[in-house]
Amino acid sequence: MGIRHILKIDNLAEKEILKTKSVRVKQFDPGLQALVQDMLDTMREQGGVGLAAVQIGVLRRVLVIETPPIEEEQEDGTTVEVEPSKAYVMVNPEITEAGTDRFAMTEGCLSLPGWYGDVPRADWVSFKYQDQWGKLHRIKHADAHGYLVGRIVQHEIDHLDGILFTERIEDLSTLQDRRQKAKPRRVGLLRRRTAET
Ligand code: ZN
Repeated sequence: MGIRHILKIDNLAEKEILKTKSVRVKQFDPGLQALVQDMLDTMREQGGVGLAAVQIGVLRRVLVIETPPIEEEQEDGTTVEVEPSKAYVMVNPEITEAGTDRFAMTEGCLSLPGWYGDVPRADWVSFKYQDQWGKLHRIKHADAHGYLVGRIVQHEIDHLDGILFTERIEDLSTLQDRRQKAKPRRVGLLRRRTAET
């Protein structure tokens, strides 16, 4: 178990790995179980909703997703949780069918920290995957109108094919750099950085 380093696009060697297509998993062995646990730990520690193995430098077709809980606003303005957060482990995931309508939502990525943009994706997908023990699962018509599994799985499968969300953005005016805002000011004052030339 452990927290692993997440590869970032602004490091050339790491970018090369992120742009590489991952290979199918054939062995459902203790090494895979350990990889999955590290991925879950790393995703949760970073507060992400999904992580592909390539993002920790492992070029195998494995991803984890943890959907945020779904809340519904009540008439009095308060919110009630209508569906809890759910975790998925997917090995060799494949989209088997996709809606022809597309729906754009703002996406971000742990490998491009601070960057956000509107990404159009299929408004639903059907897909299949194996769990970490090799058992086959199928999910039909998963909705992608929201940060739901039907949407996140499209972003994560793209990672397995070496595709980053910025390559899916059609309206580049939606691409935002929030890196400065995300950085705590205190850190900038205490630790003057000199390597940013
Ligand atoms: Zn990502």
